[in-house]
Amino acid sequence: MIDPVKPLSTINHDRDSAALRYVYPVVSRRAGGVSVGINLNPNNACNWRCIYCQVPFLTRGSAPPIDLAILENELRDFLGELLHGDFMQSRVPEGARRINDIALSGNGEPTSSAEFVQVIELIARVRSAVALPATVKTVLITNGSLLYRSAVQQGLRDIAKLNGEVWFKLDRASAAGMQRVNDTRTSMDKVRDNLIAAIACCPTWLQTCWFALDGEPPSRQDEDDYLGFISALLRDGHKPQGVLLYSLARPSMQVEAPRLSALSAEQLQAFAERIVKLGLHVKVSP
Ligand code: SF4
Repeated sequence: MIDPVKPLSTINHDRDSAALRYVYPVVSRRAGGVSVGINLNPNNACNWRCIYCQVPFLTRGSAPPIDLAILENELRDFLGELLHGDFMQSRVPEGARRINDIALSGNGEPTSSAEFVQVIELIARVRSAVALPATVKTVLITNGSLLYRSAVQQGLRDIAKLNGEVWFKLDRASAAGMQRVNDTRTSMDKVRDNLIAAIACCPTWLQTCWFALDGEPPSRQDEDDYLGFISALLRDGHKPQGVLLYSLARPSMQVEAPRLSALSAEQLQAFAERIVKLGLHVKVSP
């Protein structure tokens, strides 16, 4: 969601162009590399319904049972192809021919998978088997809502050992704002507890989508809620790595799509400067 990306649906262009079930490569020119995505929600199911969500035919629910053997084969084969095959030369533009990360992301909430911990173990096994350079990150992109579960926390601790990073979604910092933007009912106390758990288990970035609804950018109150939430967190000694602040990178696939519009780089920058004053690093992607 951070970078304009060009998804590729196949691994081996020399053979049949069959799409894979779980693994999908994404080339990011901006990040200058290939991200190896793992989609644990091929059923397009999430426990939230963000109004900017890019998943088509999104439904409420959890990840389906994962066929771990298929996932392991797909991941091993694809990383092998990236490291030793001609995929980079033939499919990736010059300047982006390196592996950036393995990213647990996709068409729903990855931590809703009952096999989440086994998936992380599998990633560790495959990383080791193909001798993936330690510099390649393992990234979990999550809405953070299931961090209260001990199995999810265990998964995060295991991700941390794999040059891991968590991107924790925080689009608005009020219950009303989260209902409006994420279509979820929660309290900020629960969000705070989940975020503190994430930070304790693994280096954690906040990912924040800041956009206009019906032509109105987020209000001063929205900004103040967000800054107040982070200030309290920092005051109590829970420090995220920083904030990934972005606007609408790709079109929403939800019914609200016509009501959404991106903010200008200047608008994002102005909010970023307020966050920076709290002592947090902010990466802005208009
Ligand atoms: S949490 Fe992610 S997958 Fe779920 S609805 Fe929001 S943007 Fe879509």
